[in-house]
Amino acid sequence: MQIAYDIVIIGCGPAGLSFASSMIGENVKILMVEKSSKESLSKPKADGREIALTHLSLKILKKLGVWDLIDQSEVSLLREAKVFDGDSAALLNFKSDDSSIEALGYLVPNYQIRKALYQRVSQAENIEIINEAEVNDVEYCHEYSKVIFADNSIAQAKLVIAADSRFSNIRRKVGIPTLTKDFSKVMIVTKMTHEKAHQNIALERFDYGQTLALLPMVGKTSSIVLTVKTQQAKNILDMSEQAFNEKITQDFKGELGLITQKGERHSYPLIGVHAQTFITDRFALIGDAAVGMHPVTAHGFNLGLRGQDILTTLIKQALTQSQDIGSKPLLKLFEKKHINLTRLMFFGTNGVVALFTNDAPAVKQVRKLVLKFAENFPPIKYLISNHLTEAQANTSSPLSKILAKLPF
Ligand SMILES: Cc1cc2nc3c(=O)[nH]c(=O)nc-3n(C[C@H](O)[C@H](O)[C@H](O)COP(=O)(O)OP(=O)(O)OC[C@H]3O[C@@H](n4cnc5c(N)ncnc54)[C@H](O)[C@@H]3O)c2cc1C
Repeated sequence: MQIAYDIVIIGCGPAGLSFASSMIGENVKILMVEKSSKESLSKPKADGREIALTHLSLKILKKLGVWDLIDQSEVSLLREAKVFDGDSAALLNFKSDDSSIEALGYLVPNYQIRKALYQRVSQAENIEIINEAEVNDVEYCHEYSKVIFADNSIAQAKLVIAADSRFSNIRRKVGIPTLTKDFSKVMIVTKMTHEKAHQNIALERFDYGQTLALLPMVGKTSSIVLTVKTQQAKNILDMSEQAFNEKITQDFKGELGLITQKGERHSYPLIGVHAQTFITDRFALIGDAAVGMHPVTAHGFNLGLRGQDILTTLIKQALTQSQDIGSKPLLKLFEKKHINLTRLMFFGTNGVVALFTNDAPAVKQVRKLVLKFAENFPPIKYLISNHLTEAQANTSSPLSKILAKLPF
């Protein structure tokens, strides 16, 4: 027997859960399917990711009733960001007063976001969650789509949403190609305390051979983010705490005094993915399954939140007009409203990474010039700050329109 739902969501990560939160109380029956255990959703463990949220994301999380469920004592303000280039004096400085807003962004531990989202969704009457279950395939059948589980059981839905990570198996199964960028680098993240205060300033050092970032957490604590070539990662992960503390203290040139590791070291291989299309028949991709960003510009979850917001707004409109929530025009409109900005962010971020992690002498000169130009030309800084904070969502900028015309 096939159980019929209005929507099946594959994946209970932050994107799938945000989408589900947006649909709480709507006249739709939703099934969420998640590979991992209920325990891992209700009590997620710290994973070293500190998520920098934009103003738009904050607004969406408040609208979803999720922001108040996040432990506010763990939320830190990002007041300023400084970008350094190697040992040179080249510096790009963003301050929240550049765009007359409280802060550039808000830093929240990923596990807190996941916990709050799950808490909200698990109480919803119109949403059922099954854990330790895996979707193996999705088949389009005109009036509905069939969702086929690993144990061969089947559910059907008017719309299937895949939020099953950047390595989405279902995206491949339904035939959506991707542009994949393997950066051949690993990002190592950990929580560290330091003797001197960070003053809520995020630091990004594009040193030669590695990239080092500091994200200011509450108190004299920061998330330290070290990006190195894949073959160097094991050495750093295997370092004793003492050696690691000495390395990071030195890498920050003693500016924060002694820096001491306080959490586990977590590592993430850096692979970026952009799906060629976000939709097919009765099917849509959201979150990292649609666009899996390089974390350097901190836009992955922010884009995931924005995408689900666009899609759920269209679905709610269709519901009030008794229209099909999985129709082609609705899905096409979702894609049209979302894909240009994600392309802009994806290719823009990859461009920044290419420029700032290439240590060839000529490229080093170019990046010094770029930083100098951006620092001394207020409109550029304004544009970048605006994109970082999403203080004013702009999907119809000239650049977005050009990107819309790209063949991919
Ligand atoms: C180090 C680091 C720092 C980051 N910093 C930021 C930041 O500052 N700001 C920001 O916006 N973003 C940031 N991100 C990105 C952000 O973490 C991701 O964009 C976000 O977690 C993606 O959520 P998701 O739900 O799309 O995917 P995931 O979190 O990958 O969740 C996918 C879920 O689907 C489940 N699943 C997969 N396949 C199946 C299946 N077949 N059946 C059932 N379930 C399935 C998985 O078990 C998983 O629970 C960062 C990422 C990293 C690695």
